[in-house]
Amino acid sequence: SVKWGLIGASTIARQFMINAIRAQEGGEIAAVMSSNPQRATAYASENGIPAAVSTLDALLKSDIDAVYISTTNELHLEQALAAIAAGKHVLCEKPLALTSADARKMVAAARAAGIVLGTNHHLRNAGAHRAMRDAIASGRIGKPIAARVFHSVYLPENLQGWRITKPEAGGGVVLDITVHDADTLRFVLGDDPVEVSAFTQSAGMAGGGLEDGAMCIWRFKSGLIAQSHEGFTTKFAGTGFEVHGSEGSLIAGHVMTQKPDGSVLLRTVKGEEQLSFDREDLYVRSVRQFHAAILGKGRPAATGEDGVWSLTAAEAALQSASSGKAVKIDPKL
Ligand code: NDP
Repeated sequence: SVKWGLIGASTIARQFMINAIRAQEGGEIAAVMSSNPQRATAYASENGIPAAVSTLDALLKSDIDAVYISTTNELHLEQALAAIAAGKHVLCEKPLALTSADARKMVAAARAAGIVLGTNHHLRNAGAHRAMRDAIASGRIGKPIAARVFHSVYLPENLQGWRITKPEAGGGVVLDITVHDADTLRFVLGDDPVEVSAFTQSAGMAGGGLEDGAMCIWRFKSGLIAQSHEGFTTKFAGTGFEVHGSEGSLIAGHVMTQKPDGSVLLRTVKGEEQLSFDREDLYVRSVRQFHAAILGKGRPAATGEDGVWSLTAAEAALQSASSGKAVKIDPKL
């Protein structure tokens, strides 16, 4: 069995990850930590978790094998380093930290301690994205030339908190959604971004100098160029992901989501074909891969290094937006 401790009494744990852990054979949640003792107790009882604690120390001393970190972003570094030092495997939410330098510290600590560190980039686990990756890898669109990611949403009212008010907590749409798009592009294309140019905006939702919309243009190693659009303020936009190659195009709709939804169309000289793919819950698959990695059978769907990549890319996008210049992407791994 794998016994988990939750660091953070969060929405994402309540909506997806508690279920994803319990869906595994031997997956058990032993304790939850909230910084507020009342919230810890209430969250534990609402979610059937046997123990509630309000310090990291107490959580790390309990009988657990792994932690899932889903606190606000400024806390991930310290909590991950403490968990690694205590010998616990770490599945951490994105962005891994506030800076890529801090994320590299997490990766280095996990490596030195022989601990599994994963980044919860859920989209890698979507059947749609894996179908696109497989189609590209097997040459079905020829040489990939360009990609377009449509990932501008409306931030649900219950999440209109630190993301749009607190720069010190790592708010803003770039650390929230651009990290996912950078990771998904890397995963689907099997390629790495080398440079980004970005514009950001504050379209009326975010305060504190934070951005609630971003458009980025990426150049990849292979020469492919990509555009991505992330936002919190577009109620009616819908999401999508397209990759256009020399011999075909992949056109996916409604796939930048937390659910196993959407469709993927392959268009070539032969006509159009809807690709079929599995509809497994993204988070269930993420935890399954993580459990396997703990047992020495494979790696997390997204590793700590992947988390360094996505944060380096997002950081470069923010630098580009503030400087007005294209910025090189080097994860220094
Ligand atoms: P929440 O705002 O729900 O939770 C973050 C922290 O805020 C909690 O740890 C909790 O602190 C505190 N908090 C939550 N609800 C309340 C409340 N009602 N009153 C007071 N404090 C509260 O964040 P999310 O779940 O949206 O995001 C958490 C992390 O997960 C972030 O890093 C985010 O980027 C990531 N995320 C990832 C997703 C993915 O699909 N990969 C999707 C959504 C988020 P405490 O624990 O101390 O009580």
